Amino acid sequence: NADAALYYAKDEGRNNYQFYTTTLGAKNPELLTLEKSLRYALERQELMVYYQPRIKIATGEITGMEALLRWQHPEMGLVAPNVFIPLAEQSGLIISIGEWVLRTACSQNQIWQQAGLPPLTIAVNLSPKQFRQPKLLETVAEILAETGLEAQFLELEITETTAIEDLDFTRTVLQGLQEMGVHISIDDFGTGHSSLSRLQLLPLHNLKIDKSFIQELTTDIKVAHIVKAIVTLARSLGLRLTAEGVEKPEELDFLKSIHCEDVQGFLFHKPLSAEKATEVLKSGRIMSVQR
Ligand code: C2E
Ligand code: MG
Ligand code: MG
Ligand code: MG
Repeated sequence: NADAALYYAKDEGRNNYQFYTTTLGAKNPELLTLEKSLRYALERQELMVYYQPRIKIATGEITGMEALLRWQHPEMGLVAPNVFIPLAEQSGLIISIGEWVLRTACSQNQIWQQAGLPPLTIAVNLSPKQFRQPKLLETVAEILAETGLEAQFLELEITETTAIEDLDFTRTVLQGLQEMGVHISIDDFGTGHSSLSRLQLLPLHNLKIDKSFIQELTTDIKVAHIVKAIVTLARSLGLRLTAEGVEKPEELDFLKSIHCEDVQGFLFHKPLSAEKATEVLKSGRIMSVQR
């Protein structure tokens, strides 16, 4: 993480520039400056939650939204989560930031439901440190009570790597969440080199196949076989499957042919501001997934 490239992501043609720097450790002055301003980002209201629709292939409906954090820095423009989430993680800021994301996302979902839109699942990412904080269950329960959102409409995403690091701990926390009625999704599945037979010990609802697989789906036959095997296994374990990072119609065709349930990707929608996401939901939710 410390060596991650620093860059400013592009965002719908706004104030963009990019630069890369390598060997970013704790001593890198740019990162230190960035970390300092991250401390104030929440109170200065520079953080925003964007929403990316998840679409059910069989019907074309939007059945969920993933909350994705954005940081609109006053001088640097839009800073990508791959840059500042690791900073937030190292500095401990992730706890307060993560709580804010969870509250914002749950409250947005409740707003959509109260506007009479068909119920959606809101998926919120949890970093390793968030997942390991002792008060996680308490915080989730508080936020659900505060926002009035029913637990079944919240899905928490942890990466495969986070999940398998300490399976006993993971199982205990996930069981607590399951008892509350919250759904659990394994993010970036396939990158953690675990096996589904280990994950089946956990109370899960959904697997998200990492986008690196989807990107090679139509160019590498071996990857296509792996994805097909994952879909089959997930089904036999009673898990729903989401393919993330779907960009091409050919990828969708293949996923359809192997009966993958859900898709997420630029082919359908990029992550959207709350305002734009609301427009999309209100404009009717059927995507043309049949070609
Ligand atoms: P993730 O949870 O795996 O999210 C999926 C990432 O793929 C998002 O990047 C999304 O914008 C991007 N994506 C979606 N569709 C496509 C596509 O068709 N093609 C490509 N190339 N990319 C696509 P984003 O928003 O930059 O987030 C990156 C990562 O940062 C997330 O990966 C997640 O691990 C983390 N993250 C984002 N928001 C939060 C948050 O609120 N809390 C925590 N703890 N982590 C977050
Ligand atoms: Mg995710
Ligand atoms: Mg992912
Ligand atoms: Mg990720």
